Amino acid sequence: MEGSAIRLEGLRKSFGETAAVAGVDLEIRDGEFFSMLGPSGSGKTTVLRLIAGFETPTEGRIELAGQEVTGLAPFERDVHTVFQDYALFPHMTVEQNVAYALKVRKVPKAERLVRARKALAEVRLEGYGKRRPAQLSGGQRQRVALARALVGRPRVLLLDEPLGALDLKLREQMQVELKALQREVGITFVFVTHDQEEALTMSDRIAVFQQGRIEQVGTPAEIYERPATSFVASFVGTSNLLTGESAQRVVGAPGTYSVRPEKIRVLKESATADEPEHATATGTVAEVVYLGDSTRFLVDLDAGGRLTALQQNLETSAEDVAAYRGTRVRLQWHRRHTVQVPDAAR
Ligand code: ATP
Repeated sequence: MEGSAIRLEGLRKSFGETAAVAGVDLEIRDGEFFSMLGPSGSGKTTVLRLIAGFETPTEGRIELAGQEVTGLAPFERDVHTVFQDYALFPHMTVEQNVAYALKVRKVPKAERLVRARKALAEVRLEGYGKRRPAQLSGGQRQRVALARALVGRPRVLLLDEPLGALDLKLREQMQVELKALQREVGITFVFVTHDQEEALTMSDRIAVFQQGRIEQVGTPAEIYERPATSFVASFVGTSNLLTGESAQRVVGAPGTYSVRPEKIRVLKESATADEPEHATATGTVAEVVYLGDSTRFLVDLDAGGRLTALQQNLETSAEDVAAYRGTRVRLQWHRRHTVQVPDAAR
């Protein structure tokens, strides 16, 4: 049965005047890949450090697997933290680095070696056991840090921007691998990132943080398709909001609405928009950004405001799309993609 791996209740942490965590309630399920996403300074790392036990909360309660751990030391909690800088021991071999945690726990030497090799195989580093960290690439060092975290089979793995130091290509590859690894070992992963694409790619669920609070918790699809606040709508994906006058004239009702750029089609202004299920708005193309596989159009609406539309370059070339700059167009999308953002009344 799916239980709760982590439960946070009324969690607060202040550093002097700064409320780094300003009242967080959250439940993370057993076996979940859970991401904490938010801009720099929004409190994600502090929440992670509170779960790990490196910080003591100013207020609130922390449970791991149904047991309160609020006052316990880090080593008394069944969690392991992977830091961005990996924190490997440079004078030890890869195998010794991985086996170290077991040595501390007085696991017999033969068993330590077997388990270290198994963990290295899980992160696809068979045959690297005798090297030292300095003889590895950044991506390989990252894998050693993961193997070291996995070898003790913690109930929860806490990862603080673990891919932050890698270049983009490697980072994308590691995102896929990390997710596959998590599925394979079945351990709860709590992953801190400020990169929305990374969170959407990897997570079962995401909590979006702002100023020490959680704005929304949901699956990637819920967060992307049904943002609960205008902050979430802007932080995750391209901000594409209709407010005030443009909401009145385009949607036909007051409020704040979000339309994702890839849902919007760019048509000639003369195109008829007579299908009742379609929303439509005319405007002038202010900017065209050719992205190779797709093109981003920034359109100033006659109704006021600006929308971004993303079109796949199926049949069009760079020259075709460049010709749109400064021209009159009609934007069109299915009404079900006009999503009201609930916090507009606040
Ligand atoms: P980043 O992505 O930059 O790591 P974050 O969302 O993880 O940001 P935190 O590191 O949790 O944010 O910081 C939240 C707030 O608390 C920030 O304003 C930060 O300056 C402050 N803060 C964090 N740790 C301390 C500390 N030890 N002493 C004083 N202030 C701190």
